[in-house]
Amino acid sequence: MKNEEIIQLISELSSADGVSGHEGSVASIVYKSLSSLADTISIDPLGNVIAIKKGFPKEGKEPVKLMLAAHLDEIGLIVSSLDSKGFLKVMPIGGVDRGIILGKKVWVHTKTGRIPGVVATRPPHLTTEKERNQLPDWDDIFIDIGLEGDRCSKLVAIGDVCTLQNEVVQLSGQFIAGKALDNRVGVASLILMLNHLKQMNHEVDVYAVFTTQEEVGFRGAITSAYGIWPEVAVAVDVGFAQQSGVNERLGKESGKGPVIAKGPNIHPQLEKSLIKMAQRERIPHQTEVIAANSGTDAWAIQVSRCGIPTALLSIPLGNMHSTAECCHLDDIRFTSKLLAEFVLRLSCDEVRRWQNVIIKPSINSRCKR
Ligand SMILES: [Zn+2]
Repeated sequence: MKNEEIIQLISELSSADGVSGHEGSVASIVYKSLSSLADTISIDPLGNVIAIKKGFPKEGKEPVKLMLAAHLDEIGLIVSSLDSKGFLKVMPIGGVDRGIILGKKVWVHTKTGRIPGVVATRPPHLTTEKERNQLPDWDDIFIDIGLEGDRCSKLVAIGDVCTLQNEVVQLSGQFIAGKALDNRVGVASLILMLNHLKQMNHEVDVYAVFTTQEEVGFRGAITSAYGIWPEVAVAVDVGFAQQSGVNERLGKESGKGPVIAKGPNIHPQLEKSLIKMAQRERIPHQTEVIAANSGTDAWAIQVSRCGIPTALLSIPLGNMHSTAECCHLDDIRFTSKLLAEFVLRLSCDEVRRWQNVIIKPSINSRCKR
């Protein structure tokens, strides 16, 4: 896919609304873009979009399921009260940084559709010196939609959600910046992967799952992994890119490919298999150590049912959880290529071996299905 086509896809995904628990609009875009790429597409009760591309196991062999997960949702705000002058008090959904939302444009999603607003706070002239040196509390942040109290309360209700606005821009070089690239670039990588796999046969059944509510506790991953019960899974999300103030230990290089995680959240044989595949196909990649919770869907999927061998690919992202999240186009391309090659070469026998590989001498630890 050409750069322009990838930018077009990501722009469409980024501008779609999808605060955790309200992912309908971005889900419908994903659903449409999958129409010619999967055998079946469904949406489960929690809003997860599940696209299945059937595999062709060797004769007489049972198929196995590979779940590939990328979360659809984005951080945002929820209206907690309306004051008599028509200003909306809000609370964060997910990890919203108060330092970056001031002055930003938002959409307020009301019962009659979305209306524009701005995130406002008191002018600096009217704050104390102490207040000027710290971030305002949520109590001092409000949304102005330009309507007075009565008209505002007829339109906006407590519990309405707000999304941050920004359009994707192409920066010099191969970088793009915009809102919700966490994790719309992961979503785009799965769609591009399915494009690579079009009209190609593979052994395993591929379940591409576009999960909901990751930013508030991986809830879509929890229920979809339980429902699908895959034999193996890979989560695709964003990770920190190196940037000013983020050192080499915390951030990975943009443009150098997906980051393959190592650590207790990750199945060691699966991680090695991904690295081997990247080396064999000469796909740029990096590695990182995550000593505990990866903070991604991989964390939830791994402990579903009686345990699922899980890996994590992270796409380096600058300015995470801002409206100017920054990503290198090559990293999206390399991620989708690595996933596609992995799917094409993965055998059902190899996946079955991973079901009881950790304890040696291996015992049959596979739980009954
Ligand atoms: Zn994410």
